[in-house]
Amino acid sequence: MIGVVGAGTMGHGIAQTCVQAGYIVYLIDVDRDILEKGLRLIREGPFGLMKLVEKGKLSPNQVDETMKRIKATIDYDEFSENVNIVIEAVPENPELKKKILRLLDEKCPEKTVFASNTSGIMITELATAVKRKDRFVGMHWFNPAPVMPLIEVVRGSLTSDETFNLTFELSKKLGKIPIEAKDGPGFYTTRFITAYLFEAIRLFEAGLADIKDIDEMTKLAFRHPLGPFELMDLIGLDTMLHIGEYIYSVTWKPQYKPPLVLRKLVLSGYIGDPRFKPGSRGGWRDYFKVVKP
Ligand code: NAD
Repeated sequence: MIGVVGAGTMGHGIAQTCVQAGYIVYLIDVDRDILEKGLRLIREGPFGLMKLVEKGKLSPNQVDETMKRIKATIDYDEFSENVNIVIEAVPENPELKKKILRLLDEKCPEKTVFASNTSGIMITELATAVKRKDRFVGMHWFNPAPVMPLIEVVRGSLTSDETFNLTFELSKKLGKIPIEAKDGPGFYTTRFITAYLFEAIRLFEAGLADIKDIDEMTKLAFRHPLGPFELMDLIGLDTMLHIGEYIYSVTWKPQYKPPLVLRKLVLSGYIGDPRFKPGSRGGWRDYFKVVKP
């Protein structure tokens, strides 16, 4: 049985991928409303199961059967006693993650493996919160989780071969392509994408082109499916800010320093596309309709 902690942008998509692969999933979040939103997105969201019905890949009955394999709860005792592997997908805040991992470490059976979907907090750092350091690993998914093929599997300095191999093999069973990355702030993918996205913001701040044109140029010139601002709206601007703050705090490299305008959007409640970030006032384009650059 797989446990997923956090039913937000990533957690609900990870839970969906696991149930689609036939696993039973326990999904936990802080309140029922968030869980309900997550379950709704799994069924009816832009990457949800009903899309597969529209494409003729699932029947409505199969959707109902798949949904039954998700147990949504807000009770950590119920969650902990039932799970063999926990995939943690709570916000990208080292202290919050450590607090939740500490709680899970107390409550879960000793053999339960912990995998963190952190975008870039070092696995060796998160492992300091738990006693089971050999059973702690990075399992970095991509957004939208049901669609994106890569899982970056990250070994902390004390992760055992058994835990690493189990996570690697599980990723394959979930229909994904696992690739190992070494532990370090941002691993490979997040270091790379953060420098690229922050550079797009800086070029916008420097007045080289506006947001819409930067997105269009990126897509037309480089065949990227989304422009950098569209991608940030999907990832979540709060998540981008937290990632930048963390990588910069560890590396002190200027390319990871969050641009001021990103912080302004997050502080103003513009944290990305409200379809994926419930409660958000909007993304980049919405903010700049209100505030002139
Ligand atoms: P999110 O804010 O959309 O979701 C986080 C969820 O965790 C929220 O629903 C929140 O209520 C829940 N949560 C908070 N405290 C909790 C607790 N004590 N117990 C259970 N649930 C709790 O964030 P997200 O974008 O899904 O990011 C989650 C993790 O995945 C982060 O570490 C992020 O860096 C990583 N990640 C994000 C993306 C992306 O594109 N958004 C991609 C890859 C990895």
